[in-house]
Amino acid sequence: MEFATFADRAAAIEAEPADLEIVARTSELLADAGDDSEERGSADSAVEPQTVEIVARFVQGRVFPAWDSTKLDIGPTTCYEAIARAAGTNVGSDDVEERLAEVGEIGAVAAGYEFGGQQGLGAFTGGGGGNGAGSAGGNDLTVREVSETLADLAAAEGSGSQDRKIDLLFGLFNRCSSEEARYLARLVLSEMRIGVGEGTVRDAISEAFDVPVERVERALQVSNDYGQVARVARDEGREGLDELDLEVGRPVQAMLAQAGTVTDALEEWDEAAVEWKYDGARIQLHSDPEAAEADAETRVFSRNMEEVTDALPEVVEFAEATLEEPAILDGEVVAIDENDDPLPFQEVLKRFRRKHDVAKAREDVMVRPVFFDCLHAGGEDLLEEPLTTRHERLRAVLADGEAPEQDEDEIEGLSLLWTTDDPDEIEAIDAEALEAGHEGIMLKDPDSAYSPGRRGKHWRKRKPDVETLDCVVTGAEWGEGRRATFLGTFELSVRAGDDLETVGKVATGITDEKLEELTELLEPHIAAEEGQAVDIEPEVVFEVGYEEIQSSPTYSSGYALRFPRFLGVRSDKDPEDADTLERVERLRA
Ligand code: AMP
Repeated sequence: MEFATFADRAAAIEAEPADLEIVARTSELLADAGDDSEERGSADSAVEPQTVEIVARFVQGRVFPAWDSTKLDIGPTTCYEAIARAAGTNVGSDDVEERLAEVGEIGAVAAGYEFGGQQGLGAFTGGGGGNGAGSAGGNDLTVREVSETLADLAAAEGSGSQDRKIDLLFGLFNRCSSEEARYLARLVLSEMRIGVGEGTVRDAISEAFDVPVERVERALQVSNDYGQVARVARDEGREGLDELDLEVGRPVQAMLAQAGTVTDALEEWDEAAVEWKYDGARIQLHSDPEAAEADAETRVFSRNMEEVTDALPEVVEFAEATLEEPAILDGEVVAIDENDDPLPFQEVLKRFRRKHDVAKAREDVMVRPVFFDCLHAGGEDLLEEPLTTRHERLRAVLADGEAPEQDEDEIEGLSLLWTTDDPDEIEAIDAEALEAGHEGIMLKDPDSAYSPGRRGKHWRKRKPDVETLDCVVTGAEWGEGRRATFLGTFELSVRAGDDLETVGKVATGITDEKLEELTELLEPHIAAEEGQAVDIEPEVVFEVGYEEIQSSPTYSSGYALRFPRFLGVRSDKDPEDADTLERVERLRA
């Protein structure tokens, strides 16, 4: 397909306001991309990549597959320089920038110049092969040539590579008509903006090659490559799509979480899977212990699918020492101190994506991986398995094969998962997570599949407390069993004029050690006792978090804190400084 045809079609798509029409036009574009092997008059179907693949990427402003971390590495200045050179000797990159400031969009700027005047140079520096290098006005530049030249450009490295990039790009612009230049400029700067998103291409593939959209969706999830999916849909149909699998070494998009509450989770699911939320950086580990020597056995990718293997040797060492079968694991890399306690997120950033002095950085900040999901193990894709099954596989993958009776919490690198429908148990896990220095908890639907790239409702990060309340402790209950000598379940009140009105009871978020301390603090203020219940003179103020405030007849204020948690004693505050009923009403509104 000629690049001029692609540019015309892109312009028509851009001019189209209706989504359905955009899909229809994109679908026609894919269908018309043509079979390269036929075009070349040979039966060589191994032409890589095929035009349909390139078009499926270009139309979204991508040059490489989504899993591929290859970058063009063309900054705006390089692009302006190439445009200026192709536009003629009297044009400088300053002029390009000036025009850009006026029109506000690089495509329009590029389309405003006449290219093709620089034949001699164009022929000399090459325009990506083909037989028309240097000819004016885009009459023979093909989509494939653009793709091949951009691949060469991305591969240029070392000294002089910027000049080489400018030369190659200049060669392309020099062969462009105005319309071609418009879309070439946008493509190289990743600013395609013709209204075609990922969903458009998915629907267009389905429409063009008559395959069910959900099969396209699944194929996209596992392959992470719109080009490959378009080609397979065209050449092999639905069966071909269904045969696409995850590949160890090729990253997939990470499943994402929404903010949410314990209330939502327990209302929507029978039970919630609860995990600690680690304050680190997301990693996807691909490990193939059976890989041929020449191939990397272990690769680590960031949440954006950039390769970060070299920056994290501890993760590679961990994988090589632990994993015995090919696997793709999802997790977090956390910075730790010498006691293995987690350090804040900022510390991990000193290591993540680091390219130089990794050994030295490693001495300053240690990291360790924690894995919470398993996407593939031993040749089997697990995306569609329920979370609990994936977690069992994860456990098996990380467990020491020689210690079958190993407890979960002894398995290095395994994030623990509890399944429960009891809000108090969830609070206790949250308290433990915070106590251990982690960010809080994640709540997950135990039956849910792994949906790459989705920020769905199946994973929820518990919202941090936006506002907290300072409440006066007006009562408590003696504990039971092991905790019989401690006060627990503290009654909380707020001020209402000269009175105090109750808003709830807090029992969770408190460790045994803390209970002992609180008992010492409150016992002298016990005013009355009846059975396990005690009244306490208003002396002590607690800071409490909560999920929401509800109207409730249970407490004298008429309100109840939902899932209150103890955050600390406000020893700096007297009961007169505690929060008021008015503030509770305002927070509820
Ligand atoms: P946020 O970055 O605030 O959107 O929270 C989601 C992120 O928390 C994920 O992308 C992970 O990097 C991180 N995370 C930490 N612990 C877990 C866990 N147990 N399950 C899932 N994600 C986790």
